[in-house]
Amino acid sequence: MTGTFSYTFDTAAYKGTAIINTGLFIDGKWVEPVEGGTIDVVNPATGKVITKVSAGSAKDVDIAVAAAKKAYKTSWGLKTPGVVRGKLLNKLADLIEENAAEFAALEALDVGKVYEKAKSQDVGGAIAVIRYYAGWADKIQGKTIETNDKKFAYTRHEPYGVVGQIVPWNFPMGMVSWKIGPALATGNTIVLKPSEITPLTALKLAGLINEAGFPPGVVNIVNGYGHTVGQAISEHPLIEKVAFTGSTLTGRKILKASAESNIKVVTLELGGKSPTIIFDDADIDQAVKWASHGIFFNMGQCCTAGSRIFIQEGIYDEFLKKFTAITKYLGDTTGDPFTPGTQHGPQVSQIQFDRVMGYIEAGKEEGAKVHIGGVRHGEDGFFIKPTIFTDCHQGMKIVREEIFGPVAAIIKFKTEDEVIELANDTTYGLASNVFSENGSRAIRVAHAIESGTVWVNCAQMGELSVPFGGYKQSGIGRELGEYALDTYTQVKAVHVNLGVRL
Ligand code: NAD
Repeated sequence: MTGTFSYTFDTAAYKGTAIINTGLFIDGKWVEPVEGGTIDVVNPATGKVITKVSAGSAKDVDIAVAAAKKAYKTSWGLKTPGVVRGKLLNKLADLIEENAAEFAALEALDVGKVYEKAKSQDVGGAIAVIRYYAGWADKIQGKTIETNDKKFAYTRHEPYGVVGQIVPWNFPMGMVSWKIGPALATGNTIVLKPSEITPLTALKLAGLINEAGFPPGVVNIVNGYGHTVGQAISEHPLIEKVAFTGSTLTGRKILKASAESNIKVVTLELGGKSPTIIFDDADIDQAVKWASHGIFFNMGQCCTAGSRIFIQEGIYDEFLKKFTAITKYLGDTTGDPFTPGTQHGPQVSQIQFDRVMGYIEAGKEEGAKVHIGGVRHGEDGFFIKPTIFTDCHQGMKIVREEIFGPVAAIIKFKTEDEVIELANDTTYGLASNVFSENGSRAIRVAHAIESGTVWVNCAQMGELSVPFGGYKQSGIGRELGEYALDTYTQVKAVHVNLGVRL
């Protein structure tokens, strides 16, 4: 028997009591970690510890991998028809939907997300993604390849077996759904590690796995730190594939661990420093709103944050005036995630708060000007007012490095060629946003930008059916859409001799 966490929400936005298990979910059971140990869970709106959850170790990963391997061989993988896998995924989505308000409340409590946004975007998005992959589960197909009349060949798209999945804290529900949806649809079994900073919704979801009907061992959730549980997953000789979302620094370690262990397949969704490019011929009012959403969505804690905003000189003053007004509105509506009307919540942790404030100081020291914001909000918790820097140039840390907070660097440009060069002058290549009412210009620039996603006249408008992933040091492989199925299957070619004699 493991511990539970009970929390009564009595807020204007949500009333109810959440009860979740705080142990490790392995082989369909809640267990304590072999070596003991806990991790504090902190409410970022207050800075106070709200509960402790179990911290696993490499020994727990071993046990979870053994359970996942057994489940793969006996009750999942190619033993279970796709139609059954799809049915169970749909059932899981239904159960999450039944508990959507509680999931959203836990996400708001744990991550600091505005409750209403957590409900519609994070929880609603997770449900949709799991249903989307439920639909794919019975459509995983190979090809028949004609060679000559003495032979034919066909391919099978087979699961890897046990896959490891390591997720970050900025979209706990979203990232878990992006990971488990395609992995389960294609017949893999899973050992998943949530972020140690935001484990609550993954634990709540683990509590629904048995009820949805998944055989024991198909989904295992092992909480713990990156250097212990994460490292053990990356090095495990029986894990054939690792899917990771997080920082470029950790992605590098995972690739190295894979190379030095069993050369597992690795897909990485890493950091970004995305450009937002606004031409003179853009619809300025729309561009202002989208650019604001692009950088300040999720308190800037978004890998696709449009943190470098390039504005063409003819509209610079007008854009900045309107962009400042919307940023001030967000600053004025910064506060408790459960208070109706709040638009902007806290950063996720003290560490992230200090990191973002450190970048704000670095920006000032390097000669950029704080146009608005740049300060903490309130006395408690980890709130930072949405911030705009002007007088920025390419050499500055705030222009080159991922801040992962509500900080926009504004840069004026003259020509299309110049802005393409500036936008591409980064080691990252996750996303970009281009604003122009001139269709051929918008498409020309979209094609010239080195990034895995380009949003034209919008920002942060991902779609579950459209692939997502990075160029350059923003990642390897694609999530979402049909493309994600390829990253969870390996192709077997079967050659059949119909009459060639030796
Ligand atoms: P992080 O790299 O510190 O942690 C991510 C996960 O990796 C956590 O679960 C952590 O415990 C684990 N981890 C840490 N060290 C590890 C190790 N040595 N071996 C294995 N696992 C380890 O990142 P974070 O701070 O949680 O998240 C923020 C970063 O994630 C940002 O850089 C952001 O851009 C990126 N991110 C990218 C995407 C994307 O899709 N490209 C999405 C969300 C976040």
